[in-house]
Amino acid sequence: MHLKSLTVKGFKSFASATTLRLEPGITCVVGPNGSGKSNVVDAIAWVLGEQGAKALRGGKMEDVIFAGTSGRAPLGRAEVTLTIDNNDGALPIDYTEVSITRRMFRDGASEYEINGNSCRLLDIQELLSDSGIGREMHIIVGQGRLDAMLHAKPEDRRSFIEEAAGVLKHRKRKEKAIRKLDAMQVNLNRLGDLTTELR
Ligand code: ATP
Repeated sequence: MHLKSLTVKGFKSFASATTLRLEPGITCVVGPNGSGKSNVVDAIAWVLGEQGAKALRGGKMEDVIFAGTSGRAPLGRAEVTLTIDNNDGALPIDYTEVSITRRMFRDGASEYEINGNSCRLLDIQELLSDSGIGREMHIIVGQGRLDAMLHAKPEDRRSFIEEAAGVLKHRKRKEKAIRKLDAMQVNLNRLGDLTTELR
């Protein structure tokens, strides 16, 4: 599995649609200060489901939408598509190429797509969770991130390791199942009460 291309449109400094083709191996992005190198990394984090504006170096999520320049009006939406080569089947989906799209509008509405089909954020998170490129972003090591990891509380550090090992997905499923069982127990109790009343 490797990242094949990244298309950015209306995202941060990328007003016009821009596609970066990525080859297997090392890709190096170079450019002057403030030219948008870190915005490329932010776009990858964002399309993979990042929900924290701070992690994207903004104050609020809307800050990812192109805010305009002296020569160009602000845009109403940001869109990023990441295409992943899945020839090795690392992603549990029957496609050799997987495109993930995230779109966001100024009113805060968001849309997600897998290969052009509308989906939920949860579907993207589940698709990626065993691949090592999940939401917790341990693949993206930003400035100061190593320090944060070294000084993290043991339970936070554990969740990094659990995601890397693919355990987090099962923990989340277990928590969801427990919530459903609890709700079912409430219904059963209610049914028991009703049965007693009717006797
Ligand atoms: P450095 O080398 O200094 O770290 P960089 O190449 O990584 O810089 P970025 O931080 O990726 O640069 O980009 C910063 C630029 O992106 C700034 O010029 C900033 O104005 C612009 N920018 C960020 N958010 C938006 C937005 N929503 N709309 C328009 N431009 C934006």
